[in-house]
Amino acid sequence: MNRRDFFKYGLGSAGVVVGGSIAGGTGDMDSVSQKSDFQHPWWVKQIKTPKLGIDEQIYSRFEARKNVFGSMVKYYGMENLRELNKRSREKTRKYYKEQKPGYRLEDRALADAAWVISRQGGLNRGTRSWTANFVRTPEERGVDKYRASPTEAAHLIKTAARYFGAATTGVAKLDPRHIHSKERGKTVSFETADEPYENDTNLVIPQKCQYAIAMTVLMPIDNIACSPTAISSAGSSIGYSRCEFLVAGLAEFIRGLGYTAIPSVNDLGSSVAIAVDAGLGELGRTNRLISPEFGPMVRLCKVLTDLPLALDKPIDFGLMEFCKVCRRCAESCPSGCISYEDEPSFKVKGEWNNPGHKAWFEDSPKCLAYWQESTSGCSNCIAVCPWTKKDKTMIHDMVKAASAKIPALDAFFNSMDKSFGYGRQKSAEKWWNTNHFEYGIDTTQGKE
Ligand code: SF4
Ligand code: SF4
Repeated sequence: MNRRDFFKYGLGSAGVVVGGSIAGGTGDMDSVSQKSDFQHPWWVKQIKTPKLGIDEQIYSRFEARKNVFGSMVKYYGMENLRELNKRSREKTRKYYKEQKPGYRLEDRALADAAWVISRQGGLNRGTRSWTANFVRTPEERGVDKYRASPTEAAHLIKTAARYFGAATTGVAKLDPRHIHSKERGKTVSFETADEPYENDTNLVIPQKCQYAIAMTVLMPIDNIACSPTAISSAGSSIGYSRCEFLVAGLAEFIRGLGYTAIPSVNDLGSSVAIAVDAGLGELGRTNRLISPEFGPMVRLCKVLTDLPLALDKPIDFGLMEFCKVCRRCAESCPSGCISYEDEPSFKVKGEWNNPGHKAWFEDSPKCLAYWQESTSGCSNCIAVCPWTKKDKTMIHDMVKAASAKIPALDAFFNSMDKSFGYGRQKSAEKWWNTNHFEYGIDTTQGKE
């Protein structure tokens, strides 16, 4: 029996009942997918506060320079980092000489080129400018600003976000603690101001910007599956470039309605924390967002605004229980940076982790060092996660639903997923001979 038959004829003996009850519970799946607003599948539960929780006494704003990029010198020492860079350069030259698939000139050129739009923006720079780039305001058009109920406005925003490339969109009330306390050497402050601005010492967010629109952008699974090669790096970088286009477009749209918008990708604050609050996913063993629909195969971005929007809630789809028995990301991590611990905890691994929230914390500098070692980054933990699937077919939906509802089956599903070969590395050579979808993403979410 192959994997298709296995699922088709009843999810194995353990799954027949599960599959039956789930199929019965789905009701009218198509009608859900036809609604214009993004909706999670029926097996995703909305909850009041994120499952992993915050220690209110400790959790506070994080200084951006403490992130993993800033922590590398402290962790390894300058001499070791120089040595690492040297080894990486030598290996890169060797791979060029050998014409090693995934590490050749054309592979690396693709990975660099896919960054091109992302490089147009930075914190309050270019595409991520905090003020209008060119859109006309209602005032300039001689009309009143957009007025609607928060529910109608949220519908409008989610439709526009989809149009600009968002896979999923959620809205959260902005928790200021998710915003960096300092970045680019300046204090990020909240003030009573009409518009966001920057001076020599401060980056000022108007207090009226109380809404955070969190969005996911899909990465091309056929690229990420080639990890760790430059072809998989191209998958990450095109994800970032598409985030850039999305936040730039959505921010301009909001300004065109007469409201303030602050577009952001990885800058300004934790996109993961905001996305969890906005109900786009849960924190997984990787200490990153896992979405119920697309697993970790997503990049995150956000726009802060004063446009009043209906809020979404955090979600629970049984991920924490699944991660407890899975560990596939940790097993596939060449740097040993991902936790094997049974339970998530408040114990951080280093200054790159913001303390005061519960998680499986990771040893991030090891990850970054491996990116150097591999010469082209790494996405193994994304490629192997069982929640990453190429499509949203009924088969995968049923397995995810079963896992969300019956944690006792998690270990079984994980071992099945493994034995069917999901998450195995794909050939970077073959990637060049594949007929890809636009951006490498099957936006129709077609059937296998
Ligand atoms: S990107 Fe690679 S090295 Fe980094 S955590 Fe994931 S698997 Fe480990
Ligand atoms: S690979 Fe497994 S343990 Fe890791 S995030 Fe995905 S589900 Fe959780």
